[in-house]
Amino acid sequence: MGIGKRYKILAVDDERSNLAALSRILSPEYEIITAMSGEDALKTASSASPDLILLDAIMPKMDGFSALVHLKEQEETKNIPVIIMAGLGGENDEERGFFLGAVDYISKPFKNAIVKARVRTHIMIVNQLRAIECLGLIDSLTDIPNRRSFDDRMEVEWRRCVRDQKPMSFLMMDLDNFKIYNDTYGHPQGDVLLREAAKIFSQAARRPSDMAARLGGEEFGVLLSDTDISGALLIAEKIRRDMEALRVPAYDGKTMTSATISIGAATTVPQETDFIKDFIERADEYLYAAKAAGRNVVFTRDAG
Ligand code: GH3
Ligand code: MG
Ligand code: MG
Repeated sequence: MGIGKRYKILAVDDERSNLAALSRILSPEYEIITAMSGEDALKTASSASPDLILLDAIMPKMDGFSALVHLKEQEETKNIPVIIMAGLGGENDEERGFFLGAVDYISKPFKNAIVKARVRTHIMIVNQLRAIECLGLIDSLTDIPNRRSFDDRMEVEWRRCVRDQKPMSFLMMDLDNFKIYNDTYGHPQGDVLLREAAKIFSQAARRPSDMAARLGGEEFGVLLSDTDISGALLIAEKIRRDMEALRVPAYDGKTMTSATISIGAATTVPQETDFIKDFIERADEYLYAAKAAGRNVVFTRDAG
Protein backbone atom coordinates (compact mmCIF):
# COMPACT_ATOMS: atom_id res chain seq x y z
CA MET A 1 0.00 0.00 0.00
CA GLY A 2 3.05 2.20 -0.34
CA ILE A 3 3.13 3.57 3.19
CA GLY A 4 6.92 3.34 3.06
CA LYS A 5 9.10 5.70 5.06
CA ARG A 6 6.38 8.31 5.22
CA TYR A 7 5.80 7.11 8.78
CA LYS A 8 7.97 7.91 11.78
CA ILE A 9 8.25 5.61 14.78
CA LEU A 10 9.67 6.59 18.14
CA ALA A 11 11.26 3.64 19.96
CA VAL A 12 11.87 4.14 23.69
CA ASP A 13 14.03 1.77 25.74
CA ASP A 14 16.75 2.25 28.34
CA GLU A 15 18.75 -0.59 26.79
CA ARG A 16 20.74 0.29 23.72
CA SER A 17 20.65 -3.27 22.39
CA ASN A 18 16.83 -3.25 22.31
CA LEU A 19 16.81 0.01 20.38
CA ALA A 20 19.31 -1.43 17.95
CA ALA A 21 17.15 -4.52 17.46
CA LEU A 22 14.00 -2.46 16.84
CA SER A 23 15.84 -0.23 14.39
CA ARG A 24 17.09 -3.26 12.53
CA ILE A 25 13.58 -4.76 12.30
CA LEU A 26 11.70 -1.60 11.38
CA SER A 27 14.07 0.74 9.56
CA PRO A 28 13.58 -0.92 6.15
CA GLU A 29 9.98 0.32 6.21
CA TYR A 30 9.84 3.27 8.59
CA GLU A 31 11.84 6.20 9.82
CA ILE A 32 13.03 5.30 13.33
CA ILE A 33 13.89 7.79 16.05
CA THR A 34 14.89 6.75 19.56
CA ALA A 35 14.82 7.85 23.19
CA MET A 36 16.44 6.20 26.20
CA SER A 37 14.26 7.45 29.07
CA GLY A 38 10.65 8.42 29.83
CA GLU A 39 11.60 12.10 30.07
CA ASP A 40 13.41 12.00 26.77
CA ALA A 41 10.43 10.20 25.20
CA LEU A 42 8.04 13.02 26.19
CA LYS A 43 10.34 15.69 24.75
CA THR A 44 11.01 13.80 21.54
CA ALA A 45 7.34 12.89 21.05
CA SER A 46 6.34 16.58 21.35
CA SER A 47 9.06 17.89 19.07
CA ALA A 48 9.22 15.16 16.42
CA SER A 49 5.50 14.14 16.28
CA PRO A 50 6.02 10.44 15.56
CA ASP A 51 3.13 8.43 14.08
CA LEU A 52 3.57 5.59 16.58
CA ILE A 53 5.50 5.06 19.82
CA LEU A 54 7.01 1.79 21.07
CA LEU A 55 7.44 2.28 24.80
CA ASP A 56 9.41 0.12 27.21
CA ALA A 57 7.39 -0.48 30.40
CA ILE A 58 10.35 -0.82 32.74
CA MET A 59 12.84 2.04 32.85
CA PRO A 60 14.63 3.80 35.72
CA LYS A 61 13.14 7.10 37.03
CA MET A 62 10.09 7.74 34.82
CA ASP A 63 8.88 4.31 33.71
CA GLY A 64 6.83 3.57 30.61
CA PHE A 65 3.49 3.81 32.42
CA SER A 66 4.17 7.30 33.81
CA ALA A 67 5.42 8.35 30.40
CA LEU A 68 2.21 6.96 28.86
CA VAL A 69 0.03 8.95 31.26
CA HIS A 70 1.92 12.15 30.34
CA LEU A 71 1.72 11.38 26.64
CA LYS A 72 -2.08 10.99 26.92
CA GLU A 73 -2.35 14.29 28.83
CA GLN A 74 -0.38 16.44 26.40
CA GLU A 75 -2.47 17.88 23.58
CA GLU A 76 0.32 17.40 20.98
CA THR A 77 0.90 13.74 21.86
CA LYS A 78 -2.40 12.38 23.14
CA ASN A 79 -3.50 10.96 19.79
CA ILE A 80 -0.24 9.17 19.02
CA PRO A 81 -0.79 5.42 19.42
CA VAL A 82 1.52 3.78 21.96
CA ILE A 83 2.55 0.12 22.04
CA ILE A 84 3.88 -1.02 25.41
CA MET A 85 6.82 -3.44 25.50
CA ALA A 86 7.53 -5.59 28.54
CA GLY A 87 9.27 -8.77 29.54
CA LEU A 88 7.91 -12.29 30.01
CA GLY A 89 5.31 -12.73 32.76
CA GLY A 90 4.13 -9.18 32.25
CA GLU A 91 0.37 -9.89 31.97
CA ASN A 92 -0.28 -7.21 34.59
CA ASP A 93 1.83 -4.79 32.59
CA GLU A 94 -0.25 -5.57 29.56
CA GLU A 95 -3.52 -4.87 31.34
CA ARG A 96 -2.20 -1.73 32.98
CA GLY A 97 -0.89 -0.48 29.64
CA PHE A 98 -4.30 -0.93 28.00
CA PHE A 99 -6.03 0.74 30.90
CA LEU A 100 -3.76 3.78 30.52
CA GLY A 101 -4.53 4.02 26.81
CA ALA A 102 -1.91 1.87 25.08
CA VAL A 103 -3.16 0.34 21.83
CA ASP A 104 -1.18 -2.87 21.94
CA TYR A 105 1.48 -4.87 23.70
CA ILE A 106 4.66 -6.55 22.56
CA SER A 107 6.48 -8.97 24.84
CA LYS A 108 10.24 -9.17 25.09
CA PRO A 109 12.41 -10.71 23.81
CA PHE A 110 10.99 -9.45 20.50
CA LYS A 111 9.97 -11.72 17.68
CA ASN A 112 10.70 -9.86 14.47
CA ALA A 113 7.51 -10.94 12.71
CA ILE A 114 5.33 -9.89 15.66
CA VAL A 115 6.94 -6.47 15.95
CA LYS A 116 6.46 -5.91 12.23
CA ALA A 117 2.85 -7.12 12.20
CA ARG A 118 1.77 -5.06 15.22
CA VAL A 119 3.45 -1.94 13.93
CA ARG A 120 1.93 -2.39 10.48
CA THR A 121 -1.59 -2.77 11.92
CA HIS A 122 -1.37 0.42 13.94
CA ILE A 123 0.25 2.41 11.17
CA MET A 124 -2.66 1.28 8.97
CA ILE A 125 -5.13 2.62 11.54
CA VAL A 126 -3.24 5.94 11.69
CA ASN A 127 -3.43 6.03 7.92
CA GLN A 128 -7.19 5.53 7.97
CA LEU A 129 -7.74 8.13 10.67
CA ARG A 130 -5.95 10.69 8.49
CA ALA A 131 -8.02 9.65 5.50
CA ILE A 132 -11.20 10.20 7.52
CA GLU A 133 -10.07 13.71 8.42
CA CYS A 134 -9.48 14.50 4.75
CA LEU A 135 -12.66 12.96 3.36
CA GLY A 136 -15.25 14.95 5.24
CA LEU A 137 -16.34 11.99 7.30
CA ILE A 138 -16.66 14.12 10.39
CA ASP A 139 -20.07 15.21 11.67
CA SER A 140 -20.17 18.98 11.36
CA LEU A 141 -22.25 19.63 14.49
CA THR A 142 -20.22 17.57 16.95
CA ASP A 143 -16.84 17.27 15.21
CA ILE A 144 -16.72 13.52 15.77
CA PRO A 145 -16.88 10.83 13.03
CA ASN A 146 -20.22 10.43 11.29
CA ARG A 147 -22.20 7.35 10.35
CA ARG A 148 -20.30 6.68 7.16
CA SER A 149 -16.87 6.70 8.75
CA PHE A 150 -18.23 4.57 11.56
CA ASP A 151 -19.46 1.97 9.06
CA ASP A 152 -16.10 1.94 7.27
CA ARG A 153 -14.16 1.55 10.48
CA MET A 154 -16.50 -1.09 11.83
CA GLU A 155 -15.81 -3.17 8.76
CA VAL A 156 -12.02 -2.90 9.18
CA GLU A 157 -12.09 -3.72 12.91
CA TRP A 158 -14.61 -6.53 12.34
CA ARG A 159 -12.32 -8.19 9.82
CA ARG A 160 -9.36 -7.76 12.14
CA CYS A 161 -11.27 -9.40 15.02
CA VAL A 162 -12.41 -12.27 12.77
CA ARG A 163 -8.81 -12.85 11.76
CA ASP A 164 -7.32 -12.60 15.27
CA GLN A 165 -10.38 -14.11 17.01
CA LYS A 166 -10.51 -11.18 19.42
CA PRO A 167 -13.62 -9.77 21.05
CA MET A 168 -15.11 -6.52 19.87
CA SER A 169 -17.73 -4.48 21.64
CA PHE A 170 -20.20 -1.90 20.53
CA LEU A 171 -22.16 0.60 22.59
CA MET A 172 -25.40 1.85 21.06
CA MET A 173 -26.42 5.02 22.84
CA ASP A 174 -29.38 7.38 22.73
CA LEU A 175 -30.07 10.50 24.78
CA ASP A 176 -33.05 10.20 27.07
CA ASN A 177 -36.16 12.29 26.53
CA PHE A 178 -34.27 14.57 24.24
CA LYS A 179 -37.44 15.76 22.59
CA ILE A 180 -38.50 17.22 25.93
CA TYR A 181 -35.06 18.81 26.35
CA ASN A 182 -35.45 20.51 22.96
CA ASP A 183 -39.01 21.56 23.71
CA THR A 184 -37.95 23.02 27.04
CA TYR A 185 -34.75 24.85 26.10
CA GLY A 186 -34.94 25.14 22.31
CA HIS A 187 -33.25 23.32 19.46
CA PRO A 188 -30.04 25.42 19.44
CA GLN A 189 -29.57 24.59 23.11
CA GLY A 190 -30.08 20.92 22.20
CA ASP A 191 -27.24 21.29 19.72
CA VAL A 192 -24.96 22.66 22.44
CA LEU A 193 -25.72 19.66 24.61
CA LEU A 194 -25.06 17.25 21.73
CA ARG A 195 -21.63 18.83 21.27
CA GLU A 196 -20.76 18.46 24.97
CA ALA A 197 -22.04 14.87 24.99
CA ALA A 198 -19.91 14.03 21.94
CA LYS A 199 -16.82 15.18 23.86
CA ILE A 200 -17.63 12.74 26.66
CA PHE A 201 -18.02 9.89 24.15
CA SER A 202 -14.79 10.54 22.31
CA GLN A 203 -12.86 10.89 25.55
CA ALA A 204 -14.20 7.51 26.64
CA ALA A 205 -13.01 5.94 23.38
CA ARG A 206 -9.38 6.28 24.37
CA ARG A 207 -7.49 3.95 22.08
CA PRO A 208 -6.96 5.00 18.49
CA SER A 209 -8.65 1.77 17.41
CA ASP A 210 -11.77 2.84 19.36
CA MET A 211 -14.25 5.12 17.72
CA ALA A 212 -17.09 7.25 18.99
CA ALA A 213 -19.42 8.39 16.22
CA ARG A 214 -22.68 10.25 15.75
CA LEU A 215 -24.91 7.73 14.05
CA GLY A 216 -27.72 10.22 13.50
CA GLY A 217 -29.88 12.68 15.47
CA GLU A 218 -29.30 12.12 19.17
CA GLU A 219 -28.00 8.59 18.61
CA PHE A 220 -24.33 7.73 19.04
CA GLY A 221 -22.17 4.62 18.87
CA VAL A 222 -18.88 3.63 20.42
CA LEU A 223 -16.82 0.91 18.78
CA LEU A 224 -14.35 -0.82 21.10
CA SER A 225 -11.97 -3.14 19.34
CA ASP A 226 -10.12 -5.87 21.30
CA THR A 227 -12.54 -5.28 24.17
CA ASP A 228 -14.63 -7.88 25.99
CA ILE A 229 -17.94 -7.30 27.74
CA SER A 230 -16.39 -6.44 31.12
CA GLY A 231 -14.23 -3.74 29.52
CA ALA A 232 -17.19 -2.48 27.50
CA LEU A 233 -19.40 -2.24 30.58
CA LEU A 234 -16.73 -0.24 32.43
CA ILE A 235 -16.58 2.26 29.61
CA ALA A 236 -20.36 2.33 29.15
CA GLU A 237 -20.89 2.95 32.84
CA LYS A 238 -18.30 5.75 32.79
CA ILE A 239 -20.13 7.39 29.89
CA ARG A 240 -23.47 7.03 31.66
CA ARG A 241 -22.06 8.61 34.83
CA ASP A 242 -20.26 11.41 32.98
CA MET A 243 -23.50 12.25 31.16
CA GLU A 244 -25.41 12.22 34.42
CA ALA A 245 -22.87 14.63 35.90
CA LEU A 246 -22.77 16.91 32.84
CA ARG A 247 -24.23 20.38 33.34
CA VAL A 248 -24.56 22.67 30.37
CA PRO A 249 -25.47 26.32 30.97
CA ALA A 250 -28.61 27.41 29.12
CA TYR A 251 -28.58 30.51 26.92
CA ASP A 252 -30.01 32.61 29.75
CA GLY A 253 -26.66 32.09 31.49
CA LYS A 254 -28.38 31.09 34.73
CA THR A 255 -30.19 27.78 34.33
CA MET A 256 -28.03 24.65 34.24
CA THR A 257 -29.34 21.91 31.96
CA SER A 258 -28.61 18.20 31.79
CA ALA A 259 -29.62 15.04 29.93
CA THR A 260 -29.04 11.38 30.66
CA ILE A 261 -28.23 8.59 28.24
CA SER A 262 -29.28 4.96 27.79
CA ILE A 263 -26.77 2.45 26.49
CA GLY A 264 -27.00 -1.02 24.94
CA ALA A 265 -23.69 -2.91 25.13
CA ALA A 266 -22.99 -5.87 22.83
CA THR A 267 -19.85 -7.99 22.58
CA THR A 268 -18.86 -10.67 20.12
CA VAL A 269 -15.87 -12.62 18.87
CA PRO A 270 -16.94 -12.34 15.25
CA GLN A 271 -16.85 -15.42 13.00
CA GLU A 272 -16.42 -15.54 9.25
CA THR A 273 -20.15 -16.33 8.79
CA ASP A 274 -21.46 -13.57 11.12
CA PHE A 275 -22.96 -10.28 9.95
CA ILE A 276 -22.14 -6.84 11.32
CA LYS A 277 -25.78 -5.88 10.83
CA ASP A 278 -26.95 -8.54 13.33
CA PHE A 279 -24.39 -7.39 15.87
CA ILE A 280 -25.54 -3.76 15.61
CA GLU A 281 -29.17 -4.84 15.84
CA ARG A 282 -28.43 -6.73 19.02
CA ALA A 283 -26.91 -3.62 20.58
CA ASP A 284 -30.02 -1.74 19.46
CA GLU A 285 -32.27 -4.30 21.19
CA TYR A 286 -30.28 -3.84 24.38
CA LEU A 287 -30.66 -0.08 24.03
CA TYR A 288 -34.42 -0.48 23.87
CA ALA A 289 -34.31 -2.73 26.91
CA ALA A 290 -32.35 0.03 28.70
CA LYS A 291 -35.09 2.54 27.76
CA ALA A 292 -37.77 0.12 28.93
CA ALA A 293 -35.90 -0.37 32.22
CA GLY A 294 -36.40 3.33 32.97
CA ARG A 295 -33.57 5.10 31.00
CA ASN A 296 -30.19 6.34 32.32
CA VAL A 297 -29.17 2.68 32.31
CA VAL A 298 -26.56 0.43 30.68
CA PHE A 299 -28.05 -2.86 29.48
CA THR A 300 -26.58 -6.04 28.05
CA ARG A 301 -27.49 -9.68 27.80
CA ASP A 302 -24.02 -10.69 26.57
CA ALA A 303 -22.04 -12.78 29.03
CA GLY A 304 -18.45 -12.17 30.10
P1 GH3 B 1 -36.13 8.49 24.36
O1 GH3 B 1 -35.66 8.62 25.77
O2 GH3 B 1 -37.09 7.39 24.19
O3 GH3 B 1 -34.97 8.36 23.42
O4 GH3 B 1 -36.89 9.84 24.01
P2 GH3 B 1 -36.46 10.97 23.00
O5 GH3 B 1 -37.31 12.15 23.25
O6 GH3 B 1 -35.00 11.23 23.12
O7 GH3 B 1 -36.67 10.26 21.64
P3 GH3 B 1 -37.32 10.71 20.29
O8 GH3 B 1 -36.74 9.78 19.28
O9 GH3 B 1 -38.80 10.79 20.42
O10 GH3 B 1 -36.80 12.17 20.03
C1 GH3 B 1 -35.54 12.44 19.57
C2 GH3 B 1 -35.35 13.93 19.67
O11 GH3 B 1 -33.99 14.25 19.36
C3 GH3 B 1 -36.20 14.65 18.71
C4 GH3 B 1 -35.30 15.63 18.03
O12 GH3 B 1 -35.80 16.92 18.19
C5 GH3 B 1 -33.98 15.51 18.78
N1 GH3 B 1 -32.85 15.67 17.87
C6 GH3 B 1 -32.43 14.81 16.92
N2 GH3 B 1 -31.40 15.36 16.24
C7 GH3 B 1 -31.14 16.57 16.78
C8 GH3 B 1 -30.21 17.63 16.52
O13 GH3 B 1 -29.35 17.54 15.62
N3 GH3 B 1 -30.25 18.71 17.30
C9 GH3 B 1 -31.17 18.84 18.30
N4 GH3 B 1 -31.16 19.94 19.03
N5 GH3 B 1 -32.07 17.89 18.56
C10 GH3 B 1 -32.08 16.76 17.82
MG1 MG C 1 -33.58 8.43 19.26
MG1 MG D 1 -33.64 9.68 22.64
